Amino acid sequence: REGSVIITGASSGLGLATAKALAETGKWYVIMACRDFLKAERAAKSAGMSKENYTIMHLDLASLDSVRQFVDNFRRSGRPLDVLVCNAAVYQPTARQPSFTAEGFELSVGTNHLGHFLLSRLLLPDLNKSDYPSRRLIIVGSITGNTNTLAGNVPPKANLGDMRGLAGGLNGLNSSAMIDGGDFDGAKAYKDSKVCNMLTMQEFHRRYYEDTGITFASLYPGCIATTGLFREHIPLFRLLFPPFQRFITKGFVSEEDAGKRLAQVVSDPSLTKSGVYWSWNKASASFENQLSQEASDPEKARKIWEISEKLVGLA
Ligand code: NDP
Repeated sequence: REGSVIITGASSGLGLATAKALAETGKWYVIMACRDFLKAERAAKSAGMSKENYTIMHLDLASLDSVRQFVDNFRRSGRPLDVLVCNAAVYQPTARQPSFTAEGFELSVGTNHLGHFLLSRLLLPDLNKSDYPSRRLIIVGSITGNTNTLAGNVPPKANLGDMRGLAGGLNGLNSSAMIDGGDFDGAKAYKDSKVCNMLTMQEFHRRYYEDTGITFASLYPGCIATTGLFREHIPLFRLLFPPFQRFITKGFVSEEDAGKRLAQVVSDPSLTKSGVYWSWNKASASFENQLSQEASDPEKARKIWEISEKLVGLA
């Protein structure tokens, strides 16, 4: 075998397609880190994944206890960790009120950013221990948090402001449920969480690349308009979004092709550069993309890192 990889949120969409693409090579053992065991098992079966190439381990990123439990369970399995893929996400574009994680953080930032922040910090020593020659930590980003693009300029735009809401605990009680301290907006909370994901990847690179040689990367796989991510959107949106992306913006990518792209970032020997945000052009060739000013601001990255450390109990 080539290596073993943990993929969070591998029960549907991009995570499942990536798990399938890697498992099919016969070279990768995939640990599907999922909150719903039965759903994940059914998904793996219907994707035709063969039993000897994967296992499912319980992980609910909306609970820091669950994240810690997952890390313990994984260590007890005795498997090496060669690549970690932080893929899972929630998106609540139509929510009028915020909902919260077990620790009381607004759900989108709590799941997409804080859960993954704790997971990747705890697993860094495991990655570092592996003797696999090309260890990687990959955090899935998005174009929507990137205000230097057309899609990133569709309102409400991502904006972390001075992060007073995050510093206050993001709990909607004595602080705002939004990172910038503003009124709750589910679509913006998702975009903000993706900016945190992209900043975290770069901060990992600055802090650990030289000493560990681990590759830290993020990516925008294209618009996968058919995934469960849009499940909470209004029906008309769900009907029109895929053809809009396919024929008008031409940014549409199938789940299968997006999975192949992420699988490339996991295993392709040519994608070893660290600190990079990968995208794909119309001919489906990968290239190093530019991030917006906010999503590449080193001061913000450091601040996000430090506040997040406190919130998840690492500092
Ligand atoms: P899906 O909704 O299909 O997949 C999301 C996955 O995350 C599911 O497996 C879901 O589990 C899991 N998940 C959600 N909450 C938790 C939690 N608390 N604990 C553990 N797992 C959880 O969406 P996509 O495949 O589209 O999204 C995958 C990634 O791709 C995300 O990071 C997203 O931001 C990114 N992305 C997607 C784009 C798109 O166009 N779709 C574009 C750019 C980026 P369950 O099955 O149990 O619900």
